[in-house]
Amino acid sequence: MTPFANAILEWYDAYGRKSLPWQQNKTAYSVWLSEIMLQQTQVTTVIPYYERFLERFPTVVDLANANQDEVLHLWTGLGYYARARNLHKAAKIVATEYKGEFPLQIEQMNALPGIGRSTAAAILSSVYKQPHAILDGNVKRTLARSFAVDGWPGQKKVENKLWEIAEAHTPNSDVDKYNQAMMDMGAMVCTRSKPKCSLCPIETLCVANKQNNPLDYPGKKPKKEKPVKEAWFVILHNDNQVWLEQRPQSGIWGGLYCFPEHANENIEQTLDKRAIQTKHITSQQTLISFRHTFSHYHLDITPILIELSKQPDLIMEEAKGLWYNLSQPDEVGLAAPVKQLLESLPFELQSSI
Ligand code: SF4
Repeated sequence: MTPFANAILEWYDAYGRKSLPWQQNKTAYSVWLSEIMLQQTQVTTVIPYYERFLERFPTVVDLANANQDEVLHLWTGLGYYARARNLHKAAKIVATEYKGEFPLQIEQMNALPGIGRSTAAAILSSVYKQPHAILDGNVKRTLARSFAVDGWPGQKKVENKLWEIAEAHTPNSDVDKYNQAMMDMGAMVCTRSKPKCSLCPIETLCVANKQNNPLDYPGKKPKKEKPVKEAWFVILHNDNQVWLEQRPQSGIWGGLYCFPEHANENIEQTLDKRAIQTKHITSQQTLISFRHTFSHYHLDITPILIELSKQPDLIMEEAKGLWYNLSQPDEVGLAAPVKQLLESLPFELQSSI
């Protein structure tokens, strides 16, 4: 075992996290669920989602048999919805192709939707103690600092270098503890903006600490201005219900429910397509615009609230839609800005009376 791994393991025994919900009665299913939820999301946010998910879907087969709308509904608020869609797809594969048991080979695990090399390694090392290295965001940061690895880890050659280091230090024994310790180190000690070097078990081994420049690692992503796009949400309201449509599976908010969207403020086409007759429009009000930011662009959204005297039969050819009751909401997955708008809608409706 390397001195680096030894120091990390000693630290874990004394300070590592051991009482998180997914560390109790570990199964491949529960660890997989937590690993996917923890991607780009903090532990405290994940815990209630994880507990609700496991209560509703106690096994991977229960998840595989669920309706996608329910899966997305339970995911609403966690963001990065591709994770939920992949989770559902992977559960179906495990249920059908692997008879409900996760594969034990890392290549097969890695081939499941949404499971990358590091997640596959985390599951197999945590549950079955297979000696695989992990390299999530926290581990990348700790290793980049400890070994002064230059460059942005989004670049293949930098990432490969970090994988090499990760593999060289991952021990064959106690790999479950070591990998958990590396994740904890990044979350608790070698944090993004204020690393606690004086409390760090590898303080004397760490090159960035010796150089006195931990914050220079890992290298930053080259900056690029995000483009700004615009969209108009058409909120059709009648009798305390609003019309929502399910988005296509691919593209933004895939499979989630959203207001009809239009690319400009001339929304006639959107109304025509849904057979809304002018005589049934009792009022039309443009609400305050707001910005929703994706990883690649900003979307400036202007909602238009349309009050209808009657609910038309909105039968969409390609899309699935529903009249969403504001007092008794349906259990469907909602795009984040839709959820935000639905929460503010009662106030908008009051002020429009
Ligand atoms: S000494 Fe500081 S920079 Fe180096 S790994 Fe520890 S916390 Fe991170």
